[in-house]
Amino acid sequence: MDDALDEGQGGGGTVEVLIPLGLDQAYSYAVPSGLKLAPGDVVQVPLGPRETVGVVWEAGSGRGGNLKKVVAKLDMPPLDPALRKLVDWVAWYTLAAKGSVLALALKRPPDDTPERPKLGVRLAGAPPARMTPARARAIAAAEGGLLIGKSALAEAASVSTAVIDSLVDAGTFCVEPLPQEAIAARPDPDHAIPQLSYDQRAVGDALADLVRKQSWQVALLEGVTGSGKTEVYFEAVAEAIRLGRQSVILMPEIALTAQFIDRFEARFGVRPGLWHSAVSGRRRERLQAAIARGEALVVAGARSALFLPYRDLGLIIVDEEHEAAYKQEDGVAYHARDMAVVRSKIENAPVVLASATPSLETRVNAERGRYLHLKLPERYGGRELPTLGLVDLRKDKPERGRWLSSQLIKAVEANLEAKEQSLLFLNRRGYAPLTLCRDCGHRFQCPNCSAWLVDHRFRRALVCHHCGHVERRPHECPACHQPESLVACGPGVERLAEEVATQFPQARSIVLSSDFPGGTERLKQELMAVAEGEFDIVIGTQLVAKGHNFPGMTLVGVIDADLGLTSGDPRAAERTFQVLRQVTGRAGRGEKPGRALLQTHDPSHPVLKALVSGDPERFYAAETAAREAAGLPPFGRLAGLIVSANSQGEAETHARALARCAEAPAGVAVLGPAEAPLAILRGRHRMRLIVRTAREINLQDYLRAWLKRAPRPKGSVRVAVDVDPQSF
Ligand code: ADP
Ligand code: ZN
Repeated sequence: MDDALDEGQGGGGTVEVLIPLGLDQAYSYAVPSGLKLAPGDVVQVPLGPRETVGVVWEAGSGRGGNLKKVVAKLDMPPLDPALRKLVDWVAWYTLAAKGSVLALALKRPPDDTPERPKLGVRLAGAPPARMTPARARAIAAAEGGLLIGKSALAEAASVSTAVIDSLVDAGTFCVEPLPQEAIAARPDPDHAIPQLSYDQRAVGDALADLVRKQSWQVALLEGVTGSGKTEVYFEAVAEAIRLGRQSVILMPEIALTAQFIDRFEARFGVRPGLWHSAVSGRRRERLQAAIARGEALVVAGARSALFLPYRDLGLIIVDEEHEAAYKQEDGVAYHARDMAVVRSKIENAPVVLASATPSLETRVNAERGRYLHLKLPERYGGRELPTLGLVDLRKDKPERGRWLSSQLIKAVEANLEAKEQSLLFLNRRGYAPLTLCRDCGHRFQCPNCSAWLVDHRFRRALVCHHCGHVERRPHECPACHQPESLVACGPGVERLAEEVATQFPQARSIVLSSDFPGGTERLKQELMAVAEGEFDIVIGTQLVAKGHNFPGMTLVGVIDADLGLTSGDPRAAERTFQVLRQVTGRAGRGEKPGRALLQTHDPSHPVLKALVSGDPERFYAAETAAREAAGLPPFGRLAGLIVSANSQGEAETHARALARCAEAPAGVAVLGPAEAPLAILRGRHRMRLIVRTAREINLQDYLRAWLKRAPRPKGSVRVAVDVDPQSF
């Protein structure tokens, strides 16, 4: 292995070190004699008055001169060439500083969350002097002397953990550490082989073939909700396991998907390596090491799992590939689905994009033969897709301050009668999107953003959904001081919950949104409880629309199908189509058929008509034609430039200066500057320029040259580039 770089003249030579900070270039350092360094090695280097970690990016020119010296080589797995190439590529594509991209790959999980061994209890001593029914249940549940986790025991015995603690104090139970769960137990590809349907088998075999070929290929796995996409892509994972190669499964809401983990375990006998921010730092560190050694064969994770140091990556799966959550909006603005395609190419491995409602980009690529198009057109087990109907709100109009039409109410009542579950979908968190004073018209605006504050009754607060600003909801209008004059305008899920409680007082209902008190862990449990049929009516935001399997759910009511269609964003139609098809797809996944009712003021809207017709081709064809005519992605390329500053004047001046030197050649259009959709965000004024180019134009090269020509931002001015913006 002679890419060692210590053979420079006389001393130890030099290396170019990339530092994981917002810097675009690598810096030259001298290598002390006796130190052997190769590209990818993680090193400690001086930077100004401090020291920092960095990665040897390439060999230096050799002349050490008066360069600062590398302090030490760190005992960490080196970044292999594939990962370095990915960093280079992502930086090139997104125009982010290379150091910022490196930070994604080098991210050390925070070590402030040590992995404490979990404690269990075991029946050890005599029964307590004072016996209560709860204590008796706990003791009965622990019979047999097994070591069992405290909360698991509490749950099994239906007692609080305080009861268990009291039995520990009484000496009835003793406490012992539970055996540590292996970080990377080897999955068994043949643990529980499913009986696939004919269609599923054909697609599963095709995917396994791709894995065996060990070459680059993008496959779109398009299957209606409930068709068994997970079951089928598990076949590809199984094949990779047989070959001893690694797989990564990216998921948009991995922290919430207890069901997925259970299914994985049922299929492969062990849990996958889990990578997301709710996993403790210590655990992630161990997993990272196991991945680098090639021991962790399957990783399921959030988008950042794409930057892990796989030793031998043989398969990438992007589940729900259409999800907007794959786009990182802050810092390095990358789209994990697109970068998954890049990584798979670098690794020479297949990538599977799975969805019931693929993004238009992916769909077009599949239709034009660039991607392999695999389809599961039917639900598994002969189940039917739900029937969809529209409720014309102009004719069936709820009373003022109410949101449920009489048709929807009747349908929910019938469902309650039949002991089946209903889902009421409203993609609006909180109680009401707007609060205003009935007397003087005062509206509550965020002090930091150009946005209205959203009333959150459960929290008794007004909240900004953009910056998180929170204030107490006052009792009187702050402008005219009229007491009791504040009124809520429009519905949020909390308000809908009030209506449900009055309308169906006997029903067990729950509101599920990302505001759920108790955080991710509680939310995960409640989602399981819904799946187990513990609630009759679920009121939820898009959080419940995604991927979940609720077998008893037979009715989905969409409160406002027009929401989203009215925005000026050209992606509005696609997004609305996707979310409505996903959420209505929650109905009828169990034994009984499902149906969905969509309330609308505009029943003739093409998106709604396409949905009801049950023919997605109709929607995709119309949308593809519209995009093509407008030169929008995937038929053209698009980037946004956001110029922000502490004052409107500064932002505007710089945005205009940028526009003046755009020098757009043929095939490039620069639009703006105009106020960004959120003109003020977190106290910063924002202007936006949009660049649209023909497909054959190298957008990145054009942007780079432009920014180089442009005046440097001064004072508080910042320019952020967003290639492939998700809203525009
Ligand atoms: P999708 O991801 O396409 O919505 P899933 O993979 O979640 O579909 O499958 C839907 C349901 O059908 C799940 O409960 C799954 O366990 C079940 N299912 C699908 N295929 C099979 C099969 N071949 N054998 C048994 N159950 C299956
Ligand atoms: Zn705000």
